[in-house]
Amino acid sequence: MSSSSFPISITVLGSGTSQGVPMIGCDCPVCRSTDPRDKRTRCSVYITTPEAALLIDTPPELRLQSLRAGLNRVDAVLITHAHADHIMGFDDLRRYCDLKNGAMPVYGSKETLDRIAGIFPYAFDPTKRVPGYVFVDVHAVDSTFPLGGLQITPFSLPHGRFLSTGYLLQRDGEKVFAYMNDCKDVPTPVRDAIRDVNCLMIDGLRDEPHPTHLNVSEAIAISRDVRAKHTYLTHLTHHKSHVQRESELPNGIQVAYDSLSFKL
Ligand SMILES: [Zn+2]
Ligand SMILES: [Zn+2]
Ligand SMILES: [Zn+2]
Repeated sequence: MSSSSFPISITVLGSGTSQGVPMIGCDCPVCRSTDPRDKRTRCSVYITTPEAALLIDTPPELRLQSLRAGLNRVDAVLITHAHADHIMGFDDLRRYCDLKNGAMPVYGSKETLDRIAGIFPYAFDPTKRVPGYVFVDVHAVDSTFPLGGLQITPFSLPHGRFLSTGYLLQRDGEKVFAYMNDCKDVPTPVRDAIRDVNCLMIDGLRDEPHPTHLNVSEAIAISRDVRAKHTYLTHLTHHKSHVQRESELPNGIQVAYDSLSFKL
């Protein structure tokens, strides 16, 4: 670790698959579980460095997640892709624009940002910047950029007909955190780029294979291949309880849950 290294704090705001857990109208044991770790809102992560507070994705529960975690600041947002479970809380950024009294820098692939602009056009129109509403500064990225004292590298990941964007966060050249939700694979050049990362948070939807998501065994294989020092599975379904899933995982691999918080 570099002598100039600083702490990075990660808080999981949401860890559930696109329908969330519990699922509407389901009375399975996991959806009826009283373990708070079995209550999974849609995926989002909050990252703080001494310089900045960053948010990955704006899911439908962003407002509730923000209140639960006591957040009062977001300096920039990274978006993985424009599926509804990752962007439908986008308008809740209005409060963070208000708190910072300015536009919200939003980073993502050009394709993803274009799709969001199609859904929330008012947020992207510089002629419609009204105090109290969301307005963004667009940062379409396809290579490493500096943010919050970190170097952040976006990677395209296959996700059915979509590409999603995974992000590697580096601190003084140290690979600290890789976030890769909603992907069916991690291509070899990306694996090479994130190899030996301190912490990998990766799609581990369920045990059964899925056409557009990694399942648990595929995620474990990638974790091993990239030699992640620690791995968390995320974007989880109701098919297994937190306790049961975690009991079945090898050393060094755990299950993320809403409100999980740790420092790197
Ligand atoms: Zn998703
Ligand atoms: Zn269920
Ligand atoms: Zn998706």
